[in-house]
Amino acid sequence: MTLNAKILLFFSFLMGVVLLVLVAVGLYTLREFSLYTAERHARSVAETVKASLTESMVNGTISKRPQFLERLKDVPGVQGVRVIRAPAVDKQFGQGISLERSKDEGEAEVLEHGQPVFKTAEKNGSQVFRAIIPYIATDTGTPNCMQCHAGSQGTVLGAISIDIPLDDVKQQAITTVSLLGLFIFLTALFALFLLRRLLQPLVETANAVKDVVAQAVGGVFRGRIEPHTSDEVGEIASQLNRLMAFLDEGISTIGQRVGELMGHQNPNVCNQLVTATEMVEGLVEASHFKQAIEEDQSKLEVYQRLALVLGDKFDFLRFSIYEVASSKNRIVPIVVDGELNAPCRWCDQQILIDAGACRVRRTGHEVNAVDFPGICTMFRGEEKGEQCTHICLPITQSGSVGCVVQMVFPPDQGQFAKLMMPFIAVYLRETAPVLEAKRLMEHLRESSLRDAMTGLYNRRFLEEYVTTLVAISQRRKSPFSVLMLDLDYFKQVNDTFGHEAGDKVLKTLAETLVKSARSSDMVIRYGGEEFLIILMDTGAEDATKIAEKIRVKVEETKVTLPGTVLQKTISIGVSEFPADADTFWQVVKYADVALYEAKNKGRNRVIRFLPAMWQENEKY
Ligand code: GH3
Ligand code: MG
Ligand code: MG
Repeated sequence: MTLNAKILLFFSFLMGVVLLVLVAVGLYTLREFSLYTAERHARSVAETVKASLTESMVNGTISKRPQFLERLKDVPGVQGVRVIRAPAVDKQFGQGISLERSKDEGEAEVLEHGQPVFKTAEKNGSQVFRAIIPYIATDTGTPNCMQCHAGSQGTVLGAISIDIPLDDVKQQAITTVSLLGLFIFLTALFALFLLRRLLQPLVETANAVKDVVAQAVGGVFRGRIEPHTSDEVGEIASQLNRLMAFLDEGISTIGQRVGELMGHQNPNVCNQLVTATEMVEGLVEASHFKQAIEEDQSKLEVYQRLALVLGDKFDFLRFSIYEVASSKNRIVPIVVDGELNAPCRWCDQQILIDAGACRVRRTGHEVNAVDFPGICTMFRGEEKGEQCTHICLPITQSGSVGCVVQMVFPPDQGQFAKLMMPFIAVYLRETAPVLEAKRLMEHLRESSLRDAMTGLYNRRFLEEYVTTLVAISQRRKSPFSVLMLDLDYFKQVNDTFGHEAGDKVLKTLAETLVKSARSSDMVIRYGGEEFLIILMDTGAEDATKIAEKIRVKVEETKVTLPGTVLQKTISIGVSEFPADADTFWQVVKYADVALYEAKNKGRNRVIRFLPAMWQENEKY
């Protein structure tokens, strides 16, 4: 209920009650007053008539009373006056005239008991005040009743019956009360008008506050209130305006700043407060995410955590993360549709071998097929037989695109996906430096474990890997063999053709060894021109055969040098773990002993280690 309605209702109720009470009190008072006046009037008439009759008796003109009694009818202000004789008087003076006889029970009762009766009654359709007043014999005064009347004091000598009309009085009372009521009504109306005028600014301010607050709840803080007065109500308006201005400025600044942080230059703001809150929450979550990925151990863990965010937080069912291997101009799918190491599904396979074919990789910008359908010619969504579109975002590392994140969704989710992009972009921005750092760390670590010239693992790698290697072999209860290789007369190459030629021979040898080995085998540059090959799940017998094949391959390999073509040979020593020794380094040692044996036996050959060689060796 509005304030105005409440005031109106309250006033109407108050006015009704006041009017009702006033009319009731007025009517009651006027009635009592008119009855009192009528009674007084009746008593006066009674006394006058009594005095007149007494006078007649004393003067001996009582016999002429019929004319007097007749004239009484014309007394003004009364409707009818009659004098009634009591039986005592009849008894003393004989029957009176007919006018003097009692006409009703009331009169007879007054004559009998000597008590006056005053009452209102209906007479000929109008209301009258009826007074029946007895005349009682007394001996006081001069003349007194006892001088003429026989009988004792207190005897009822007669009574007077007077009817006084009340209609006029009643009419006047009603008129008076009505006028009073009207006056009160008009006064109340005026008071109501005044009150409403006084309350008008309060009501208007209250309504304006209601509207402004409702707008603020909806995130719009531009609403203001016009102060109508300079009192407390006006003060409320001014203070609220100040609060609104403060909130408006504060929240739009927060929104703007956070928007800038999120790369959200012109956010389509419906509710400033909600948008700002969502953006701040997004930033906080992204910051927690960054903390988590910083503590992750590998790039892969970072990718997995990013995939979790895209799938669980942003609810994308189909999303992929591609890594750009910039040095080789290739793109590697890391996560496809949330699945690790799955094949590329949504793009032409060309992007995998030619990174430049990927629009994001090429331009470094977001590719948004929601706003620009068909923007990327490499997208193959339609070939999957379903309606879908995509948005791809770059992860920029050191100024170039290090990764591409692709989200695929039905066209009807396009607008929602677009809304999510600034939030996702924040995550990607946080991911970029962490990925870069991890990539660098992995590269550094990888390079410290590899030999720069040949690209093969180095001795340090072997030292780190030994424990794992032995553990795998023991768990699988499967042996492995060690081949120790050394180029024959390599010194001559350096001496004859120079160090560079020597390096080329070493690189060629390394390539030949890698090609000859299985992917599960490990080729290690053990020393200057000494190599180690670890053959997994292979006993010495098979290892010897493999070594022989390698030896032949090396022998057949031609190394082209400026002005000449070289063909070199190698000697190989073979030993087996755990058949020859129960420690890895001892097995390596035995392979070296076998190699020594091969050199001794004329080089370019493969020699399986035998314990006798070790005893022989120990002699020296
Ligand atoms: P052998 O048949 O007994 O093995 O004779 P060899 O001449 O090969 O003798 P040895 O194995 O002792 O020779 C090692 C030579 O390899 C010495 C060194 O000059 C050369 N060498 C080691 N590392 C490199 C390298 O990285 N580049 C080049 N060009 N030469 C290297
Ligand atoms: Mg050597
Ligand atoms: Mg050598």
